[in-house]
Amino acid sequence: MVNGLIQQVGQQLLQAEHILVVSHIRPDGDAVGSLLGLGLALKELGKTVQMVLQDGVPSSFKHLVGSELVQRKAIGEIDLVCVLDCSDLLRVGNILPENRAPDINLDHHATNLNFAQLNVVLPEAVATAEVIAGLMDAMSWKFSESVSAALLTGMITDTIGFRTSNITPEALRLSARLMEYGANLSGLYHKALINQSFEAARLWGVGLSKLNKDGRIVWTSLTQNDRQQVKYPGRDDADLINVLSSINGFDVALIFVEQPNGNIKVSWRSQPVCDVSGIALEFGGGGHPRASGAEIPGSLQEVQEKVLRSTRKWIETSVEFNNS
Ligand code: 5GP
Ligand code: MN
Repeated sequence: MVNGLIQQVGQQLLQAEHILVVSHIRPDGDAVGSLLGLGLALKELGKTVQMVLQDGVPSSFKHLVGSELVQRKAIGEIDLVCVLDCSDLLRVGNILPENRAPDINLDHHATNLNFAQLNVVLPEAVATAEVIAGLMDAMSWKFSESVSAALLTGMITDTIGFRTSNITPEALRLSARLMEYGANLSGLYHKALINQSFEAARLWGVGLSKLNKDGRIVWTSLTQNDRQQVKYPGRDDADLINVLSSINGFDVALIFVEQPNGNIKVSWRSQPVCDVSGIALEFGGGGHPRASGAEIPGSLQEVQEKVLRSTRKWIETSVEFNNS
């Protein structure tokens, strides 16, 4: 069934002329890598492609070929809208033309709301980049070096360097093929996961200096003021959550990040004892069993209290469930 659906998606893309490809706000490596992977592949097939991210390409992914083509707004003629790596339409931001429902939704989040006409959602894929590679294989499209580098970046970042528990032999085989097509694993790995800006390192310092624990939860927060003080340009956590989730002795790591619109962005990371995608969904977000997020209205204090309370309960219920 999935194969038939993927063929349909491929055919629709081939029939369209002006294609809009979008991904999510606060883009990560899979959002950028999937956008560039599919966008560049379609351009190489002769399509007119707009690649749009409301927040633009973060500096840690500007080395990718095609990143200079990514715009923050969609303009002009559009025959087909393709949304990547977004489990709901709120994740896209405000870039879709008014009253224009997406035609195609390619994703790997089990929490995906199937909001488009054709929805290919494969939770067993480690990254949306893997879904796109599957589409390209099904359609026998060529993987250029630039497309391969973009897709490999998605594979590297969503698996945090091939170390998340959902990693599969298929994902590793695909990554090896992307290397054979010319992608430089070591270079891409360092740029995506290892190298940090001076400002990001200072932001980690601020976040780590406020580190808290609450039973089985380790957590911290970042305010707008924290970011201004260290001159960090993004509105994300500079991946500090990955540092928190490596601290021994906790089931869940949490970070609360104040947003310019007054909301609080919450990220959950969990150990196998607890699936945090359900709790993120309860707060209007989504994600994966081990890594989820939500943007929640309210003051930092209010959101912290609410989320910590619910997460504590969630852990207790999960642990009881797993032991029963
Ligand atoms: P992060 O916490 O790093 O932003 O995201 C972890 C996972 O949760 C990613 O797969 C991401 O797509 C998903 N996620 C993060 N924030 C949101 C959100 O506000 N809404 C939804 N639906 N998913 C989110
Ligand atoms: Mn992803």
